[in-house]
Amino acid sequence: MQILSQRDLQPFHTFSIPTQAQLIIRAESVKDIIEIYQNPSYQHLPKMVLGSGSDTLFCNDFPGVVILNRIKGKIVREDNDYFYLDIAGGEDWPQLVQWSIEEGIYGLENLALIPGRAASAPIQNIGAYGVELKDVCDYVEILDLHTNKEIRLSSAECEFAYRESIFKHSHRDDYIITAIGLKLAKTWKPQLSYGPLKDFDPHSVTAQQIFERVCAVRMQKLPDPSVIGNAGSFFKNPVVSQEQADDLLQAYPDMPSYATVQGVKLAAGWLIDQCSLKGHRIGGAQVHPNQALVLTNLGAATAQDILQLATLVCARVEERFGVTLEHEVRFMCDGKEVTLAQFKETL
Ligand code: NAP
Repeated sequence: MQILSQRDLQPFHTFSIPTQAQLIIRAESVKDIIEIYQNPSYQHLPKMVLGSGSDTLFCNDFPGVVILNRIKGKIVREDNDYFYLDIAGGEDWPQLVQWSIEEGIYGLENLALIPGRAASAPIQNIGAYGVELKDVCDYVEILDLHTNKEIRLSSAECEFAYRESIFKHSHRDDYIITAIGLKLAKTWKPQLSYGPLKDFDPHSVTAQQIFERVCAVRMQKLPDPSVIGNAGSFFKNPVVSQEQADDLLQAYPDMPSYATVQGVKLAAGWLIDQCSLKGHRIGGAQVHPNQALVLTNLGAATAQDILQLATLVCARVEERFGVTLEHEVRFMCDGKEVTLAQFKETL
């Protein structure tokens, strides 16, 4: 474990907004995490584990210990039908995807370039271009902070849903994800249902080609967080009833909509764009001009700028379409996770 001499959180979250923590500690093993939680000096301080900070907005200084999960390790096992990857939680997700393809292990290519660490992937069941973590997840290993024992949850026990899992609910506070297991079929089937992949021939396409296409599209549409601070999609795509979707489609026949088991999924980016908010700024925060689903820090944004912009976006979409947007980004305020609505009450 390494206690960092600096307390600035700016380099450790992709919105890159200057905020401080009381203490930042790099954890390199599960033992490190247990020691931090057991250390009497930190007992009364709030603590949180951060991967790459690619889904977190610090609304103010964190009055406690931020633990950077840097537990590393990758093991490959196999049987006749599958590769099984045991991946430590601090492994970088984009590097993991690239490495798997170089190793001839396929199935993660649609999930290329999603910023974050392996341990963060199950929390919001990361997904892109028709593949979600739940499709490839074998297990998630968690540390139970009551018993200091590691427990292995099956994929079914994680209760994965669209950008959802048990780790946002009952297993949010007292458990830390330390590793994940992935199960990838040796008989690979490409997932080509999304627009940018549709022109590939399913009989001849390679995982490498899909990987390269996904990387190219993402690099073109999404701001690189190392250049422009952002946390990827700020909002989830809303899922509405068939009835509401039909009403909206009558008024807006061009509106993208996708049938799902839970209802009809709308494209939040399209709704925001229709409100003419692409490029809209408040202070140093901007709705990304190429992808309205992403809010960015142009360099000098405060968390308040981002939150005001998010509030405006929600209000405009609600007013025009009667659709409530939910945020995907997680807000940390006074050492606790809060919703946008709760945060507004504190202003
Ligand atoms: P897009 O192609 O502009 O499409 C807008 C939305 O429509 C997507 O978010 C996607 O929903 C949905 N969609 C498009 N084609 C679909 C299909 N064939 N079947 C079902 N739903 C479809 O999307 P984009 O913004 O460029 O993103 C492309 C992919 O990368 C999406 O899967 C998106 O979720 C993912 N992505 C995720 C993040 C993040 O931070 N979470 C950031 C950027 C991109 P879904 O989102 O449900 O797939």
